[in-house]
Amino acid sequence: MADTIFKKIIDKEIPADIVFESDSILAFRDINPKAPTHILIIPKEEIPTVREINGKEHGPLLGEMIDAANSIAKKEGISEDGFRLVFNCGDKGGQEVYHLHLHLLGGRQMAWPAG
Ligand code: 5GP
Repeated sequence: MADTIFKKIIDKEIPADIVFESDSILAFRDINPKAPTHILIIPKEEIPTVREINGKEHGPLLGEMIDAANSIAKKEGISEDGFRLVFNCGDKGGQEVYHLHLHLLGGRQMAWPAG
């Protein structure tokens, strides 16, 4: 299967505005932001969707992604006011890039239900 755009960002084949990197995850600004702060937190491991996640195997990885989201939210100054974390999954979930990613959105009032 062809590499996704996010795999190319991980491999530094295409540029991204990276805000955090560890051995297992990468976080960078969304190219088409839907909020004043919109950051994508992704595992370096190629996991296409949330459907491939199971708690026993991926619990520590997901924990690291949430830790990164919390620390980035603090650095971006959106932690106190509140923010939104989103995993889109599959076509009807609105997923466009089939490499797992956690959206961190903040800096404005979020509406509910999400569109
Ligand atoms: P999804 O709809 O799959 O949940 O979200 C994919 C997100 O990736 C979208 O918000 C889109 O703007 C973002 N995106 C797509 N291509 C690129 C890219 O090349 N660079 C960056 N930084 N973000 C991208």
